[in-house]
Order: sequence, then structure tokens, then C-alpha cells
Amino acid sequence: MSSSRHGGIGMTSQRTRLRMIERLRGQGIRDEVVLAALSEVPRHIFVDEALASRAYDDFALPLGFGQTISSPYIVARMSELARSGGTLGKVLEIGTGCGYQTAVLARLAKEVYSVERLAPLLAKARRHLREVRIAHIRLRHGDGLLGMPEAAPFDAVIMSAAATHVPETLLEQLNVGGRMVLPMASNREQRLCVIERTMQGYTEKKMDQVKFVPLLPGVG
Ligand code: SAH
Repeated sequence: MSSSRHGGIGMTSQRTRLRMIERLRGQGIRDEVVLAALSEVPRHIFVDEALASRAYDDFALPLGFGQTISSPYIVARMSELARSGGTLGKVLEIGTGCGYQTAVLARLAKEVYSVERLAPLLAKARRHLREVRIAHIRLRHGDGLLGMPEAAPFDAVIMSAAATHVPETLLEQLNVGGRMVLPMASNREQRLCVIERTMQGYTEKKMDQVKFVPLLPGVG
């Protein structure tokens, strides 16, 4: 860790972050708890140093290994949908990537579990999360499609890679009243999808059009 990472951009990042929050409000993010969480997590720590000056712009950024870091809007939107105005106990994230969404979730939930299939990315996320001193997160190298049955049930499951079908195993790990937020891919588009577990079964809502990397089976 270089000191410039905490000085230079770190010093100005609070102001840049507040601008980002104003932009997210303008883009329709309404949940103040989510906005507060995004204002507290230094996003520039999670992106490669060469990209740090773009960290607060509303872009998905390259993460290495052909993966991308979700844009601030997507992270805020998925968090807002997962929370749905309530409080979150346990949350499961599939696709840790750089760990930014994980860090935001840690501000919104009591316990966060996150699974990543690429070991080098998980190592990166672990470094970032240590740097911003966020605890109460369990990271695991593995296939997120299996979920984490030993930690289930979850109040929310957030998937950061696009699936072509809803993974049953993950639905089974939801609490009643819990929500799964995931990008679902069809032939021509991807849409954010919110599936809620009810006493009777599941309800499904299709939301914003999005663009995520595909969910891949197994570990890399
Ligand atoms: N929220 C992350 C998104 C990273 S991109 C961020 O903003 O950094 C999606 C991630 O999902 C990639 O890191 C990819 O390796 C991971 N992924 C894809 N399929 C997976 C699976 N089956 N299990 C766990 N992680 C998976």
C-alpha cells in the first residue's frame, strides 16, 4: 500500500464521493441508507491504481481476468432492491470481484458472505477489504452456484454475474421474505430480476436493463 493511495486522491475522494452520491440521487436511487453506505466506502481503494481517478465516475471498470467492476449505480441499485427499505441480517454475494459491493453490503447487513470462483480476484478483494478495515465478511473461493448452505438462510442474495436460469439451490437458501437480486440473460438482453420468497412460494419482478459478465460454472 503506498501512502499516496491514502493521501492524494484519498484526501479529495470525500468530495468526489459526495458528487457521486448526488449523481446517484439524480439517477433515481432513493434509499438514503444505501446512499450513506456508498458515501462511506472509498471506491478508489478497490480499483487498480491506474484507474483510481475514474473510480467515482459512473462506469463499470476493468478488473483483470476479463471481469468488470460494477458501476456505482448498479451497486446502489442492487443494494436498494436487496434491502427494500428493511434491515438485513445475513447476506450472500455471488461474484466478489474487487470486493466493492461486498464492502457496501457490509455497511447494510449484519453478516456478509461472498463467494468468488477466481482465486486471484478473491485475493485482491481480501487485500482491499483489509485496507478499508471491514470485518464481519466471510470470503470463500468456490462456485457461487452452490451458495453457502451452512450459513443459510439469507435475507438477501446478490449475484454479480448474469445467469440464464434462476439457480434453484440459491432460492432454497433464502429466508421467507428474503430477496434474490440477479441479472438474468435472455437471447437479446439482460435484466435485473428480483425474486422474493413468500410463504406460498416465489414472486418475480423484472427491472432495469443491465450488462454483466456471465456466471460461469466451477472454479477458475
Ligand atoms: N461486484 C463485483 C463484480 C465482479 S464481475 C465487483 O464490482 O467487483 C463478476 C464476478 O463474478 C467475477 O469476479 C467472476 O469471476 C465472478 N463469478 C462468475 N461466475 C461465478 C460463480 N459461479 N461463482 C462465483 N463467482 C463467479
